[in-house]
Amino acid sequence: MPSPPPTVPKARPRCGEPRRVLVTGGAGFVGSHLVDALLKRGDEVIVMDNFFTGSQRNLEHLKGNPKFEIIRHDIVTPFLVEIDEVYHLACPASPIHYKFNPVKTIKTNVLGTMNALGLAKRCKAKFLLTSTSEVYGDPLEHPQTESYWGNVNPIGERACYDEGKRCAETLAFDYHREHGLEIRVARIFNTYGPRMAMDDGRVVSNFVAQALEGKPMTIYGDGTQTRSFQYVSDLVAGLIALMDNDSGFVGPVNLGNPGEFTMLELAEKVREVVNPNAEIVFCENTSDDPSRRKPDISLAKEKLGGWEPKVKLEDGLKLMVEDFRERIEDKRARDAA
Ligand code: NAD
Ligand code: UDP
Repeated sequence: MPSPPPTVPKARPRCGEPRRVLVTGGAGFVGSHLVDALLKRGDEVIVMDNFFTGSQRNLEHLKGNPKFEIIRHDIVTPFLVEIDEVYHLACPASPIHYKFNPVKTIKTNVLGTMNALGLAKRCKAKFLLTSTSEVYGDPLEHPQTESYWGNVNPIGERACYDEGKRCAETLAFDYHREHGLEIRVARIFNTYGPRMAMDDGRVVSNFVAQALEGKPMTIYGDGTQTRSFQYVSDLVAGLIALMDNDSGFVGPVNLGNPGEFTMLELAEKVREVVNPNAEIVFCENTSDDPSRRKPDISLAKEKLGGWEPKVKLEDGLKLMVEDFRERIEDKRARDAA
């Protein structure tokens, strides 16, 4: 585990003023929930997003909030703003989206992260990178601890994301060692919840949307591959705890729910919550699909004040289903009007 440099400058002190926080990718699924939590505790929040996978709808409820600002910008080009903390989320997270334009995904992860780090360096701001469990690739160690270096195909279709995030981690640690930048690196495991785009393509949103719309749930491959699913509020709590931890701990740290499910088991859970008669259809799997994934969260529990996921899969699914139902009904009403 890398050790911090001897002198780490503190974030710019602004006595008596609220923290000013930049959330790149703040119009996306995770970002919009993070923004809500930061505003709720009194921070000023600036969202910067190019709306590739994010939407104005995710932030609509914040219109008119004097502590909230939104800027349309692509992180691949430099960006100037005065801030105390940067949560760097900008990057498509769903395989269909990050594979859509892989070179752009790499640019976002490498050039985008350099720009976000450069901004943090100039402002002497704290910087948090949302990395991913994908850095472990198709893991040969199970469950995955942070000391595992991973098993990634550098020339595969997922590499633009996996290797892009690995390079983003390298950049964060190099800015930390070379420039004394205060960094935090979170390795996020599959997260789900309200506001996921319905056509996002990730497994939980696909199954829930399909079951609600009376379509068969699409299982890629034989459905024995596993993932661990974390509800979004647990992730947001972990990200904020990590940023707020000023003990010198920088990570990388796994943030995920260690409950492990096959895709067949997930389909069964969705059936229980949405529709016991929902059908399943088996489709060809995508290349380099990791066969299993489960976080070891001992480090997060130790370093983040006892943080651990609280929401069980069936409870989280119910909350997500409510949101998806509402959106499907809204769309039907709009189409009928
Ligand atoms: P998302 O696709 O919903 O959100 C990503 C946001 O980044 C979107 O609003 C998108 O428009 C924006 N964006 C993409 N490219 C950009 C660019 N070049 N410039 C500016 N904005 C850009 O995804 P999410 O699930 O909210 O993921 C957020 C972050 O968390 C990502 O960095 C992702 O890699 C990481 N992560 C998420 C998960 C998960 O399961 N949700 C798991 C691991 C890591
Ligand atoms: N998957 C599936 N059906 C879908 C979408 C995904 O069976 O409609 C599988 C996919 O092959 C993978 C797992 O679900 O094994 C998780 O995929 P997702 O895209 O949600 O996230 P990943 O962990 O692969 O980034």
